[in-house]
Amino acid sequence: MNTKEKIIDIIKRLKKEYPEQKTALHFRSPFDLLVATILSAQATDILVNKVTRDLFTKYTSVKDYADVPLERLQKDVSSINFYKTKAKNIQASAQIIVMNFHAKVPKTMEELTTLPGVARKTANIILSNAYGINAGIAVDTHVKRLSYRLGLTKNEDPVKIERDLMESLPEEDWSNLSHLLISHGRKICQAKKPKHQECVLSDICPSRDI
Ligand code: SF4
Repeated sequence: MNTKEKIIDIIKRLKKEYPEQKTALHFRSPFDLLVATILSAQATDILVNKVTRDLFTKYTSVKDYADVPLERLQKDVSSINFYKTKAKNIQASAQIIVMNFHAKVPKTMEELTTLPGVARKTANIILSNAYGINAGIAVDTHVKRLSYRLGLTKNEDPVKIERDLMESLPEEDWSNLSHLLISHGRKICQAKKPKHQECVLSDICPSRDI
C-alpha cells in the first residue's frame, strides 16, 4: 500500500469511528473562532469554551475587541495561560481587521497570516471551520504525532508535515484528516500511552509496538 492509498484507508476507517467532524471550539462568527483558536494554544478546548461563553456575550463585534482597553481584555481571559500575549494578539488582530478588511475576517491564507498570533495552523482552522475553505491542513500536536507514528511523514516541522499530507490527499479531505487525527489522538493514540489494542489502525501502523 503506498502513502496515498494508506491515507485514504485511514480516513475511511476513522470516519466510521468519529462521524462528527468539526472543531470542538464553540463559536458563532469567524472572529469568535479566531479568538477561540488564539486562546486554545496550549490550553484545553474545554477551558477555552468556558472562557468564551462569557467573552462572546460581552464582546459581540470585532470593533468591541479593537476598542476595549487592553488590560480589561486581558482580565477577561486571565484564566488561560499566556493570557497577556494572547489578549494582545486578539486586540491587534481586531484592529487590523477593522482597518484593512472592513471589520470582516479575511478568507485567504495570505491575508490571515498577516494577523498577529495567526500562523498556518490557526488560518487553516478558521478557513475550514468558519468558511468551508480547504486551503491546507491544520497541523496541531495530535496531527503531528499521529502523522509521524502512522508513517505518513518523516518530518517534524509542521509546515513540512502539512505539505507531505497535502501531497497524499485529495483537497476535499484536508480538513477531515485534521479533525479525524485530532479525535483519534485524544481518544486512542495518546502521546504517553497509545492504546494500540483498541486502535482500528493497528494492522497498518508501523508504530503499533512502541
Ligand atoms: S497503532 Fe498505536 S501508534 Fe499506531 S495509530 Fe494506533 S494507537 Fe497510535
